[in-house]
Amino acid sequence: MTDYVFPPPAAPALPVAGSDRAYPVRRIFCVGRNYAAHAAEMGYEVDREKPFYFTKSCHALAHSGTVQPYPPGTDNFHFEMELVVALGAPLFQETDRAVAAKAIFGYACGLDMTRRDLQLSEREQKRPWDLGKDAENSAVIAALTPVADFGPIAEQRIWLTQNDETRQDATLSELVWKVDEILCHLSGFYHLGAGDLVMTGTPAGVGPVVPGDRLRGGIDGLDPVTLEIGRAE
Ligand code: MN
Repeated sequence: MTDYVFPPPAAPALPVAGSDRAYPVRRIFCVGRNYAAHAAEMGYEVDREKPFYFTKSCHALAHSGTVQPYPPGTDNFHFEMELVVALGAPLFQETDRAVAAKAIFGYACGLDMTRRDLQLSEREQKRPWDLGKDAENSAVIAALTPVADFGPIAEQRIWLTQNDETRQDATLSELVWKVDEILCHLSGFYHLGAGDLVMTGTPAGVGPVVPGDRLRGGIDGLDPVTLEIGRAE
């Protein structure tokens, strides 16, 4: 037994739909600007040369169905509804998209909650996006559905409602960088493996929340993700 100087934090984990087992989360990678209409609403075009990334700490993970406090340091906290990919096998410097796809354990609905005011000022000043993106409890993710129960990514609808009003509504076919392409590209920089999540970017329609808001995001064939925004603490 290791004699830790304080008790180690509990390992972040996600439920697996239709199972009592949990999926331990190691890293959370996020893809920026991966739907053309969202890139346009942010004042950009998608860079078709290569995808780009930011990360969230695995301790930013929050479970679906919870109330999370409005975070400190922002007046413009935004929702971004996303398809989350969970890896179940190692992947390194892979160039074959079919091989990369075989490393996928499953998929989930996720919210990339964002301090938009800080992200935009960081972007303008050419600084890293950590304060904007790596807010505590900012990776809200529902139960994982194993890949065999979901099938191929095609025209599944991806949507988000805020207090029952539709804000985001697109299809997964609008992903500019396809999931297997992202995995190949990212595997050129990391020894990817089980426990690694990739949030694949959000469609158009992102917007701010206020305390009391109820968010519900869905993707055809996956458990929906829900979040209620609590008071600032
Ligand atoms: Mn995002």
